[in-house]
Amino acid sequence: MTHLQGIAASSGIAIAKVYPLEAPDLSYSKQDIQQPEEEVKRLHEALDTSKSELETIKEHTKKQLGDEHAEIFSAHLLVLSDPELIQPIEDKIKSDNVNAEAALDETANMFIDMFKNMDNEYMRERAADIQDVTKRVMAHLLNVTFPDPALINEEVVIVADDLTPSDTAQLNKQYVKGFTTDIGGRTSHSAIMARSLEIPAVVGTKNITSQAEKDSMIIVDGINGDVIVNPTDEQVAEYKKKQDEFEEQKKEWAKLKDEPTVTSEGEHVELVANIGTPEDVEGVLNNGGEGVGLYRTEFLYMGKSQLPTEEEQYDAYSSVLKQMGDKPVVVRTLDIGGDKELDYLELPDEMNPFLGYRAIRLCLERDDIFRVQLRALLRASVHGNLKIMFPMIATLDEFRQAKAILEEEREKLNNEGQDVSDDIEVGMMVEIPATAVIARQFAKEVDFFSIGTNDLIQYTMAADRMNERVSYLYQPYNPAILNLVNNVIEAAHAEGKWAGMCGEMAGDEIAIPILLGLGLDEFSMSATSILPARTQIRDLSKKEMASYKEEILSMGTAEEVVAFVKEKTQS
Ligand code: PEP
Ligand code: MG
Repeated sequence: MTHLQGIAASSGIAIAKVYPLEAPDLSYSKQDIQQPEEEVKRLHEALDTSKSELETIKEHTKKQLGDEHAEIFSAHLLVLSDPELIQPIEDKIKSDNVNAEAALDETANMFIDMFKNMDNEYMRERAADIQDVTKRVMAHLLNVTFPDPALINEEVVIVADDLTPSDTAQLNKQYVKGFTTDIGGRTSHSAIMARSLEIPAVVGTKNITSQAEKDSMIIVDGINGDVIVNPTDEQVAEYKKKQDEFEEQKKEWAKLKDEPTVTSEGEHVELVANIGTPEDVEGVLNNGGEGVGLYRTEFLYMGKSQLPTEEEQYDAYSSVLKQMGDKPVVVRTLDIGGDKELDYLELPDEMNPFLGYRAIRLCLERDDIFRVQLRALLRASVHGNLKIMFPMIATLDEFRQAKAILEEEREKLNNEGQDVSDDIEVGMMVEIPATAVIARQFAKEVDFFSIGTNDLIQYTMAADRMNERVSYLYQPYNPAILNLVNNVIEAAHAEGKWAGMCGEMAGDEIAIPILLGLGLDEFSMSATSILPARTQIRDLSKKEMASYKEEILSMGTAEEVVAFVKEKTQS
């Protein structure tokens, strides 16, 4: 039995076999061969297996994430059937008398180099496709497993160094009972997605990949952050009991699904959800969400080989708005960068991606990309209650520029005779301390604020949100953070605007009473946090919490704040 402590990232308990998700060793030796026909046959067998796997993955992706995300696999399938790639590999086997591995590698690399150096973006994307599919075919030639979450067909817990947001999006809940990683923090995007998918997860264990062998039993406790490899029978029994208790607890919470969120004095509090795709809306409604407080649109751009078209975006935004009816939907414009990459944009590597060329910074420079998104949003606005916000605003000038581009696109659509709602609030994320400090000035120009504490905390504490070694500095209750949050809420209210929060802090049990007292208007969280938060808020008095405001804001440490809140709320 091995016990590891990590960061609880998505609640629930998983007990299943280990499925390591790691890049396979694809090294091979080049060999002279006597029977080229045999090698050609091996090549075609590997190609056929790869094709049938890609068909499965494509179907799975279509179901889980929609047609656009499945397109990349159609492109991969085309590569595998392209005689212009396959014939030269066969020719090489026959003319050079080399094994299939060498012929595949050398021929594919020749095409990859050729395409990569072309001016044409489309051809450069083909280089990436060839690179991807060649790895799969090579794995089959070498008889090594090419791990792929979409191909899993038995109950497992995924163990990986890290999971990218697109890996996470591929996970099939039916079989993937949980996951655990070496690196990452509670606010890394794979953790956030695990919560939307309701898959228990523990991240940042530092070394689970070296402790867990394929097929051994593992327990992942996403409530407390424990991971146990090769548990004893007693431990399995103990965690099965915990699993049952968690299910019972969920049933209790579910009773409040159609109830309003009110404090003990009967004041309404708005509880809305964060989503990444139109498919997540079902979870929001099932968990009694009163709206969407953050739609992370970048997932529409990820896991693909090219930018989504205006029509694709229009369909996705309209689908969310229609499903939510007259409930508010806050859509955030493209926030790429940090841990969310777009390979096809081929942006240069940066020393500090979270401080780099990302989100609104990229959109203002690449306004060709930004305008397509804004047009799609404006056109979709007639289908519901849309609000638009810009991510990573650092200066007033950035907000003004982004808003001016939005207005230009609105005018163009008006001139084209397209219907656009004339009641779209335009706000911004407050996630850079510079904007929280002078929130008063911003409040005059925005319709609302949404405080993004995942980034606000990492920038205020100077602690990378992905780095488990500094995760102790992710301190939502640190008075420095609480004072910034208070400043933003007061600034909004002074100008008659509203302030919400869409960082993970908004769904945090200790933070909720404090935020209630500070007067936060809207709490946006993972859908699964809504019912526990509603249950908690019914027992809290906003008036009482507001009376502690000055005392809390003048405290010196996060620990003092936690002790104080516990004393006042957990009688
Ligand atoms: C945040 O930074 O708090 C936020 C909600 O945005 P993201 O987690 O997508 O960076
Ligand atoms: Mg952010």
